[in-house]
Amino acid sequence: MKALITGGAGFIGSHLAERLLERGDEVCVIDDLSTGKLENVAHLRDNPRFHLAVETILNETVMDRLVSECDVIYHLAAAVGVELIVKSPVETIERNVLGSHVVLRLASRYLRKVLITSTSEIYGKSDSIPFSEEDDRVLGATTKSRWSYSCSKAIDEFLALAYHKEKGVPTVIMRLFNTVGPRQTGRYGMVIPRLVTQALAGRPLTVYGDGQQVRCFTFVEDVVWAAIRLMEEPAAVGQVFNVGNDKGISIADLARKIVEMTGSKSEISFVPYSEAYEEGFEDMRIRVPNLNKVRETIGYEPRVQLDEILRRVIEHFLAKKGQD
Ligand code: UDP
Repeated sequence: MKALITGGAGFIGSHLAERLLERGDEVCVIDDLSTGKLENVAHLRDNPRFHLAVETILNETVMDRLVSECDVIYHLAAAVGVELIVKSPVETIERNVLGSHVVLRLASRYLRKVLITSTSEIYGKSDSIPFSEEDDRVLGATTKSRWSYSCSKAIDEFLALAYHKEKGVPTVIMRLFNTVGPRQTGRYGMVIPRLVTQALAGRPLTVYGDGQQVRCFTFVEDVVWAAIRLMEEPAAVGQVFNVGNDKGISIADLARKIVEMTGSKSEISFVPYSEAYEEGFEDMRIRVPNLNKVRETIGYEPRVQLDEILRRVIEHFLAKKGQD
């Protein structure tokens, strides 16, 4: 099997590449290194079954060749991270919508199976917990740039479902819920790498708002397992799946846990959202996935829980001497 991974030098993509190589697949990665890093795939480059194209997925000539040569496509290339989205909404919208359009059009030309990576941001600020795949979406005004991410990913989902329905392209959609693990950077706002590096450096841990917002953190290896199984499962085609962990924690409790586990002397500092992002920023109070569908379809069960996730992330940053 030859897999094309868009965004394969990113955090999730590099773990997926590693797993596919381990099981004997050939892997081709395309990444423009905008948020991905060569360092993430450095350990794979000697493997003769690993190929890397440093290029944007908007380059249709290159993408045409790569799609024609692969059997399946894992589409992970996207603008991610709420901080990045709020700062660079043009880039977010264009990269997510146009990039997925290129991928889907070429998948249609060569009739390749595609996994589209979507997000729990799709549900917006809905308070109907847990979120199920068929739930209504509740979004804020278009003047709040955070929602552009949810909308750009919703267009990706609509397109993927439409290519399946109208053109018979085998597409599968997974909605991820706060994926975390080694190699994730805090540079685009993600909370665990940020708080862990702050704790290791003895700097205050920045908890936004009142810290009572709840998130469910999913270990990257659980996500990789689900991605591969969803691509193998015929019943998953044309379907949308939540992939996550359904045990939640408030961000204030998460910060306390990180201080304890790192043995840090750092304090916890509560930062208003207006300072952290922008005036009028809207956050979700609570986000929990309903995992019934993915459990029933592929027997998915999140295996790695928060304490173990944090141990692995802390170990990762210690090995890098706290550098992100
Ligand atoms: N957050 C925080 N401190 C930080 C970064 C993030 O308190 O330094 C909060 C953020 O406002 C959100 C939660 O942690 O409520 C998770 O943020 P992240 O960006 O990791 O993912 P999101 O859930 O926003 O997609």
